[in-house]
Amino acid sequence: MKSECPKCGKKLSIFYFKPKCPQCGCELAYYDMDKMLEEDAKKAEAEFAKLDAFIDKMTPKFIKKKMKKDMSDSK
Ligand SMILES: [Zn+2]
Repeated sequence: MKSECPKCGKKLSIFYFKPKCPQCGCELAYYDMDKMLEEDAKKAEAEFAKLDAFIDKMTPKFIKKKMKKDMSDSK
């Protein structure tokens, strides 16, 4: 359990279970969750970029050319 507000830094009792900080009114329950989701999204994005680069590296040039051709043909 958090002992201080993540936003304004106000010391909170470990028995303080209300969702909002009494000083700044920030949503304690969601403050961390938002940050976590944001970090998760960043991580996923980084992983995806890695995967993309990996696939790009593993795909031979002639296949890439063919893929591009197929894509322009289907238009
Ligand atoms: Zn606060």
